[in-house]
Amino acid sequence: MRYEQVADEVFVIRGTDVNMFLLREGRDLTLIDAGWYGDAGIIEHTVEALGHKPQDIQAALLTHAHLDHVGALNHLHTRYGIPAYTSPTEVGHAKGEFHESATPLDVIKRLGDYSTCCWALRITRAGGLRKNPVPHIHPFPTEGPLDLPGAPTPIPTPGHTSGHSAFHLPQAGAIATGDTLVTAHPTSKHQGPQLLPRFFNHNTEETLAALTPLALLPADLLLPGHGPTFSQPIADVVAAATTHATTLT
Ligand SMILES: [Zn+2]
Repeated sequence: MRYEQVADEVFVIRGTDVNMFLLREGRDLTLIDAGWYGDAGIIEHTVEALGHKPQDIQAALLTHAHLDHVGALNHLHTRYGIPAYTSPTEVGHAKGEFHESATPLDVIKRLGDYSTCCWALRITRAGGLRKNPVPHIHPFPTEGPLDLPGAPTPIPTPGHTSGHSAFHLPQAGAIATGDTLVTAHPTSKHQGPQLLPRFFNHNTEETLAALTPLALLPADLLLPGHGPTFSQPIADVVAAATTHATTLT
């Protein structure tokens, strides 16, 4: 199943080894992240399966500007006029003005691992080698909770990228953490709350430090950028990821 309801009016969309989330309020939707370039059809099919039209998406919010999260933003804007927002720091990254990402060489060095090799083939098919700048992206229009379905509140979580944001969803008691905090990844042997392997992070120590403010939020549902959603008090989730971080390579 490519999508699943994970909380009241919150749905996960499973792209190519990456998660996206839809928040619903009446006829209107908010999309958090947009998968790989090749995942656009999965978003459209999910929206339609839920009885909506892509035009019901009021905005797409971006946790960070890596290729596995910006994928369909240009398609959604060109085809349906859907705006995209991210943190002011991440705007230049999304526009391709600078880069803070793993390189193909980082991946090639790890292709001896079977799971990583299979993942590399899947993401290559999904557009993993294709540059995908997002010229239409803007900074969040307001501070604090956004006037969008689900009332998502951006939480700065710099580290994985300099302008990374998580989104607190107060109505659902959930946090969409992007790649600051995940629960699985094909390049990791660990299942459960964790940071991504070091080569994915612009700064792993800052990523770890960014977990501290997340632990204080009222939430008991983790909506990660990669891996299954996870129901536990967020402070416990952060503690587990912090413990695991001591073993990160
Ligand atoms: Zn990612």
